[in-house]
Amino acid sequence: KKIIETKDIKKTYRMGAEEVQALKSVSIEVNKGEYVAFMGPSGSGKSTLMNIIGCLDTPTSGIYILNGKDVSDMSENELAEIRNKEIGFVFQTFNLLPRASCLENVALPLIYAGYGKAEREEKAFQALKNVGLGDRVNHKPNELSGGQRQRVAIARALVNDPSIILADEPTGNLDSKTSYDIMELFHELHQKGNTIIMVTHEDDIAHYAHRIVRLRDGLVESDTVNPNPTRGK
Ligand code: ADP
Ligand code: ADP
Repeated sequence: KKIIETKDIKKTYRMGAEEVQALKSVSIEVNKGEYVAFMGPSGSGKSTLMNIIGCLDTPTSGIYILNGKDVSDMSENELAEIRNKEIGFVFQTFNLLPRASCLENVALPLIYAGYGKAEREEKAFQALKNVGLGDRVNHKPNELSGGQRQRVAIARALVNDPSIILADEPTGNLDSKTSYDIMELFHELHQKGNTIIMVTHEDDIAHYAHRIVRLRDGLVESDTVNPNPTRGK
C-alpha cells in the first residue's frame, strides 16, 4: 500500500529578484512499512523534500498524495491537522521542552489530538516504555544523556501512532556508539511495521535503511534497494 506519492514536485524559492530551484522534479513512491534513507550533498534538496513530505511546506507545483489524500494545495490549518495525525518528527537537535518532564514532552502531541489527561499519561508512559525509558518518566531532558533524549523524542514521534516517522539527521548530535543504539531502535520500529524516512549524510547510518534515495541538484540521482541492510545485534 502506497503511503507517499509525489508526482513531478517542484519547489522554487524566491529571494528578491532571484529564484532558487530547490526541487526541479521529484517523483517518488514509498509503501507502508518501508525504511528509506535520503542522502545527497548539502543543498541538494533533502530538507526541502522532507519539509514537503512532512507537510511543513507545500510544493510550488506537482502533486503530493499522503496516505491517499492530496495535500498539495492544503491550507496552513489543514496541513497542521494532517501533520499532527500522520507524521512523527525526529530532529537532530531533539527539540524537547527543557522544563517539561519526559512524560510531559511525550504527551504533548496528544493534547493537540484532544485526549484527556489520564489517557495522555497512559499513552506517553507506554511510548516511553517502548523506547526503554519506562524508568525515566519524571526526569527532565537535561537529566538525560543525548541518546536518552533522542529516545524521548522518538517516543514523542510515536505516541500518536503516525503513518510515517520522518527523521532529519537523527544521529547528527550523537557519538557513534549512541548512534548505533538509536539505529537499533529504528530497526525494531521497522520490524514492527513502521514506515521510516530519514535524512543522513553518514553511509554507515544510511546502511540500516532498506532503500537509499540520493538527491543531487533538486533531482533524484539514484533510488536503490539496499540488498544487505545492517541488522540489529
Ligand atoms: P539540503 O537539505 O540537501 O542541504 P535544502 O533543501 O536545504 O538542501 O536546499 C536546497 C536549495 O534550496 C539550496 O540551494 C538552498 O540554498 C535553497 N533553499 C532552501 N531553503 C530556502 C529558503 N527558505 N529560501 C531560499 N532558498 C532556500
Ligand atoms: P536542520 O535540518 O537544519 O537541523 P531541523 O531538523 O531542526 O533543521 O528542522 C527541520 C525543519 O523542521 C525546519 O524547517 C524547521 O522549521 C522545522 N521544525 C523544527 N522543529 C519543529 C517542530 N518541533 N515542529 C514542527 N516543525 C519543526
